[in-house]
Amino acid sequence: MTAPVKRRTVAVLGATGAVGQSFVRLLHGHPWFDLVCVAASERSAGKPYAEAARWLGTEAMPANIAAMTVAPCDPKKVDADLVFSALDSSVAGEAEAAFAKAGRFVLSNAKNYRMDPDVPLVIAEVNPDHLDILESQQKRRGWKGGIITNGNCVAIVGALPLAPIHQKFGISRLFASTMQAVSGAGYPGVPSLDILGNVIPLIKDEEPKIETELQKFLGMPKNGIIESAPFKVSSHANRVPVEHGHTICMSIELVKKASPEEVSAAIAAWTGSPEARGLPSAPDRPVVMAGAPDRPQPRLDVNAGKGMTVTVGRVRADTIFDIRMVVSGHNIIRGAAGASVLNAELLVKRGMVA
Ligand code: NAP
Repeated sequence: MTAPVKRRTVAVLGATGAVGQSFVRLLHGHPWFDLVCVAASERSAGKPYAEAARWLGTEAMPANIAAMTVAPCDPKKVDADLVFSALDSSVAGEAEAAFAKAGRFVLSNAKNYRMDPDVPLVIAEVNPDHLDILESQQKRRGWKGGIITNGNCVAIVGALPLAPIHQKFGISRLFASTMQAVSGAGYPGVPSLDILGNVIPLIKDEEPKIETELQKFLGMPKNGIIESAPFKVSSHANRVPVEHGHTICMSIELVKKASPEEVSAAIAAWTGSPEARGLPSAPDRPVVMAGAPDRPQPRLDVNAGKGMTVTVGRVRADTIFDIRMVVSGHNIIRGAAGASVLNAELLVKRGMVA
């Protein structure tokens, strides 16, 4: 029998937003973590959470959180062992650094630190060893705590099935065209009259994230920094009238040639890093193959593995590269809050949290 895990207190910065609310839902009743503080902007600070957050969930807001007074994002006002950040990127840079300096580990969803070479960009099932560079981050920056980042929502969804392909065959070039849900833009996000019955072929600053983060996820820790994998990515990012669930059509050039059947078998057999297995937020399978030829579809597949499983379908030969396929996953759970909570569980399992 394994020893029970010591409970840790946690806080959520940006708790009133779309991703922040997902943290609140996922942390409610968590077996290892107690959510003791919700923080947001000065507009919300001092108000009860129920008043400050425009609740987007279909289930009731947890009563104990509804009654909490929203704190400002100030390390002196937020007392918790671990800090999740769902802050807007315009403020995340300064706020997250202040918490790391004050000795906290911050699990960030914002873009600000993701591509810094001494900051781990982690998907628990793909690259848990990237957490090894945290000590060097602390030394370089003089922080007692540290920052661990999540990828961009669509990059996380894409990286999961690419991991077994890269591990087994190597990727040399990748073309990715995305169809991204409206919840990816936060609340209130895209105006309804712009997106209903429409497709918007621009998501500001999204393509460079897809074109750099995938390689960092699949890169290697070396001398205290992460060396990104050397493949090239070209992407198109589109906003579509879907509530939750980002879908990506990918064409992949492989280093070691393989048939669609071999690639499908590699994805189907992949269970992710053993380090992540059995963690409270880890799904049974991080990636599954779709059960029908016209899947994945976000409406039907977004909640696979309670939103933590990415679904892959239509693996077939490509006429320009080698393989093409379609991938879909939950942008707010797998692509944001759920992935962060899983990373926090990994930190605890590794004994990195006091
Ligand atoms: P959102 O709905 O706009 O929420 C933003 C949050 O930041 C709110 O809690 C807001 O608090 C807070 N905030 C804004 N200005 C602030 C300030 N000056 N000081 C302190 N707090 C401030 O955005 P979101 O979609 O949840 O995204 C949150 C972060 O996660 C962003 O960095 C985003 O890029 C990233 N992300 C989002 C997704 C997704 O699918 N939505 C996926 C991955 C990553 P108030 O309510 O008080 O204004």
